[in-house]
Amino acid sequence: MTFTPSVLVCAYSEIALKGKNRPVFQRRLLNAMRSALAGEPVATINHVESRYLVRLEDPSRADACAEKLSRVFGLRWFSPAIAVGRTDPGADLARAGDEAVRLAIRDVGDAASFKVDTRRSDRSYPVDSQEISRRIGTAVGAAIGLPARMTNPDFTVHVLVLREAILVFTARRDGAGGLPPSSSGRICCLLSGGIDSPVAAWMLMRRGCRPVLVHVHGGRSFAEADTGKVVELARILATWSPVPLTLWMVPVVPYEERAMDHVDDSHDMIMFRRFMVKTGQVLARRESCMGLVTGDSLGQVASQTLPNLAAIGPDLELPVLRPLVGLDKETITEYSRRIGAYETSVQPYRDCCSLRSPHPVLHARPDRLLELSSLMDLDGAVADATASATKLVVDADGLQKTMLPDPSRTSSG
Ligand code: ATP
Ligand code: MG
Repeated sequence: MTFTPSVLVCAYSEIALKGKNRPVFQRRLLNAMRSALAGEPVATINHVESRYLVRLEDPSRADACAEKLSRVFGLRWFSPAIAVGRTDPGADLARAGDEAVRLAIRDVGDAASFKVDTRRSDRSYPVDSQEISRRIGTAVGAAIGLPARMTNPDFTVHVLVLREAILVFTARRDGAGGLPPSSSGRICCLLSGGIDSPVAAWMLMRRGCRPVLVHVHGGRSFAEADTGKVVELARILATWSPVPLTLWMVPVVPYEERAMDHVDDSHDMIMFRRFMVKTGQVLARRESCMGLVTGDSLGQVASQTLPNLAAIGPDLELPVLRPLVGLDKETITEYSRRIGAYETSVQPYRDCCSLRSPHPVLHARPDRLLELSSLMDLDGAVADATASATKLVVDADGLQKTMLPDPSRTSSG
């Protein structure tokens, strides 16, 4: 047998539905897989019959590689495969059938129906796909005592006939789904220290966006602020990204100094949010982002009533995307756990949002917000805040690089 390496079979999600652009999506997925598996003993990654086959030189790394692939957007499922070397069709299929039975017994769970799905990459193989499925299906059905069902089976055993071997596998692990990284463009995500906004950023990452994170902190300068928790959230998001993530740290003080004499308590929260989205917009432009993302969920808190969400940016030029708008807290929390952010998100943190007055207007009027904005010189606050913002680059290991010096830090010595 010439086919010795261990193989992970990966299936992609929506890419299969793409028309002419499919090769572009496939290339991005392949790049993301390569980058996730950097440093692992990967011999080759080949595209065969709508699957990616990752051949490993060292089978003992299969689980570690599977773990890494589970964070690659664009993969629907993946599975380690058993490779049966080819000799003659009768003997091969009997052995592939034995392996299929073994896997089916191990993985069938509480399924009530099954199917054998066969694809031949080697079309010269003397037995056709249907006949292979029929033969192996008979053996599997007898072993697990379930009826075969061709449409919507609960459980599938896959058989892939290659020139050198026959692969047998079940879809053992769910992938992250969505679209491959970099297939949708850049987006600016307003990241608080809470549960919602990391989920919102992750959802857009799952749609192929590269996020640029922006956090407004309570200090006068980055050096003064206690931002460890937010950096940790950025690190967690970076574990889902093939590249390190940019995180802008913006001081709130320019807003507070100007709002103090002009903004009444009932408008403070919503004006602060205007400050955040307008600051986000400036940084988004700087980073070539096409929109803003927030973790707003309709009606979750008083500042997120429909009139308030609608009123916040009458003068905004970029679209504000709110991927959580229709989700309840329970569902958002489930996502947060799945992402791995929950334990960090629930740590105490004095977000500058929590320092705002607790009783905002429920029906903010856009004209009133514009009036307050010019009274307090909101644009001046945004200009000051972005001028003294600090840019970090955070990778999955938590290493961070400061890209720009914080001017307030340098000027104060
Ligand atoms: P989260 O759980 O993400 O903190 P939340 O339910 O607490 O959200 P708010 O605090 O009202 O909601 O904030 C709504 C959205 O505004 C957040 O999801 C986030 O996108 C943005 N936001 C809030 N605070 C900040 C901040 N300090 N810096 C940047 N963006 C923020
Ligand atoms: Mg919050």
